[in-house]
Amino acid sequence: MKEAFRRIYGAHPEGVWAAPGRVNLIGEHTDYNDGFALPIAIPQHTQVAARKRQDDRLRLHSAQGNGPVLDLRVSQLIPGVVTTWAAYPAGVVWALREAGHRLGGADLHIDSTVPVGAGLSSSAALECAVAFAYNDLYDLNLSAPALALICQRAENGFAGVPCGAMDQLASACCTAGAALHLDIRAGAHEQVPFAPEAQGLSLLVVDTRVKHDLGDGAYAALRTGCERAARLLGLEALRDLAPADLPRAARALPAHLLPLVRHVVKENARVANAVSHLRAGHLAALGPILTDGHASLRDDFRISCAESDLVVDTALAHGALGARMTGGGFGGSVIVLAEEGRAEGIGIAITTAFRTAGYQVPHLFPITPAAGAGRIS
Ligand code: ADP
Ligand code: MG
Repeated sequence: MKEAFRRIYGAHPEGVWAAPGRVNLIGEHTDYNDGFALPIAIPQHTQVAARKRQDDRLRLHSAQGNGPVLDLRVSQLIPGVVTTWAAYPAGVVWALREAGHRLGGADLHIDSTVPVGAGLSSSAALECAVAFAYNDLYDLNLSAPALALICQRAENGFAGVPCGAMDQLASACCTAGAALHLDIRAGAHEQVPFAPEAQGLSLLVVDTRVKHDLGDGAYAALRTGCERAARLLGLEALRDLAPADLPRAARALPAHLLPLVRHVVKENARVANAVSHLRAGHLAALGPILTDGHASLRDDFRISCAESDLVVDTALAHGALGARMTGGGFGGSVIVLAEEGRAEGIGIAITTAFRTAGYQVPHLFPITPAAGAGRIS
């Protein structure tokens, strides 16, 4: 990183910062409903080599950006002016200024091992790496959760993606060997020990390498639908509804909103259930919870797709303990929990099923829960 930075900018960086991608074990589409989630950081991460500047220039280069160095002005960052990948890092600087921090420029070089656009949150990894770098370069002394919320603001307000805060909190706050139990409304998080390999289990990521276009508009529509249902029920957010309230909600809501509400309410309960099992050391019990979560996203939220369903069905047919799509939906990645001895056979079965169906060969890799963002040199 340092050598690449020197070649690009002709000077040494002050340091290198890194932030991981994530997979969410359970708690999907619950963050913007003020609910709960249980993500882990993955070993794949985005690095930023950075050097503070004495002037207003923000120079950006990414090994994945396939282009020249972009040269922006910090004081001229307004939503809508940057429409390329640079909206994510520039948005972080914009959001920090919006929050009242006095900042100047920097030179940044970015490189990443997080697959981009695969539902593993390369966008949050990029934002968090930049936010942690700026935090140190400008001595802002912001906490990891505060930086995560700045990153969410960048993605919402500058990159124009109406995401909740789960991805950024995961990238900023996860620790190695643990899942992050998030309570979005309370602004609280707790580390829950999660080391599948210690119990002879494997957690596989299957990147289906498809991203169906439907995703972008559909995400916003689902979010609006959930918010509308909460208003109709007289609630601040769907977080305030318990599973026992569902029959009452069914009478009060238009039929098309009920499946959305059912997913969110039951998904929040699944997070609580998963956390109890992890705390009791029963990691294998997570399996059926993952599979139930997938069925709910497929049938109630309707955001799965043929490729993700094929991964889940094939994994289960070959002895997986559980499997589910992870991330916003319409493609992206699936996680599979399996006994270690079965993981290889499951992987082969999935690849074969994709070949038979005429799909692109998926990208499979095992993961262990990794550390969150920070300075690495
Ligand atoms: P995901 O977060 O699931 O990977 P998103 O669509 O939210 O998918 O974010 C992907 C976008 O983030 C890319 O299209 C690109 O604009 C930006 N991005 C992520 N990582 C990088 C990187 N290393 N270099 C440049 N742009 C990146
Ligand atoms: Mg993203």
